[in-house]
Amino acid sequence: MIPGVRLVVLGKQGAGKGTQCVRLSHHYVVPHVSTGDMLRSEVKSRTSLGQRAQSLMEQGELIPDDMVMEMVGARLSERDTTGRGFVLDGCPRTTRQAEALEKIVEPFGLDLVIDLQVPTPLVMKRLASRRVCVDCGANYSTAAPPLVNWTCDVCGGEVIQREDDTEEAIGRRLNLYEEETEPLLSWYKERRLLTEINGTGSPDAVTRRVVGAIDALRRQLKDRGDP
Ligand code: ADP
Repeated sequence: MIPGVRLVVLGKQGAGKGTQCVRLSHHYVVPHVSTGDMLRSEVKSRTSLGQRAQSLMEQGELIPDDMVMEMVGARLSERDTTGRGFVLDGCPRTTRQAEALEKIVEPFGLDLVIDLQVPTPLVMKRLASRRVCVDCGANYSTAAPPLVNWTCDVCGGEVIQREDDTEEAIGRRLNLYEEETEPLLSWYKERRLLTEINGTGSPDAVTRRVVGAIDALRRQLKDRGDP
């Protein structure tokens, strides 16, 4: 089997992208590249990008395409991602970002774009109870908290409610997803890269569906003799 994979995961806020992308990156042994995590780390380190991004993120607005794609371009040209691939989470979010990404990943292109589908009332419920580790981005919820005192089970970091998980910012992000990101689904469908996956049910069940879809595609490519 060909090592690595070049994967984009799309889905509205609360669809479970973060959780699934961490699992997929372990399964295929490729880096998890999350634009949200990268931007939160820029904010935390008070870099100039972080300072420009902070208030936009708190309000649930998008960061300008050029700023995000410069950051993504730099990350995807590092040796680990050019060598084995990546699981890209949170990008692209606009058609301009998808066009820029197409250029960044030339000449290999993407293997697959997953659309993780979850109905809006369910994502609203998930987001209201979502808690995340400030250090490694691991996801928890009020129903499934870390084992000890809101301390991350994975890295020992502090587990908090994200500043942009307020009702107002969630509403804004969901509207932006509909306006800016949903058009990308047909953009990728036209390019025969899109696979729709039901994102409801347990995290394990969703992972099995996603891995099943990716492995089926890789078998097809192998049978066709593609590299
Ligand atoms: P969510 O999917 O819940 O909005 P993310 O962690 O993916 O969470 O992103 C958090 C915030 O970071 C977004 O609301 C936006 O302000 C910014 N952001 C992340 N990725 C992008 C992107 N590709 N383009 C523009 N802004 C982005």
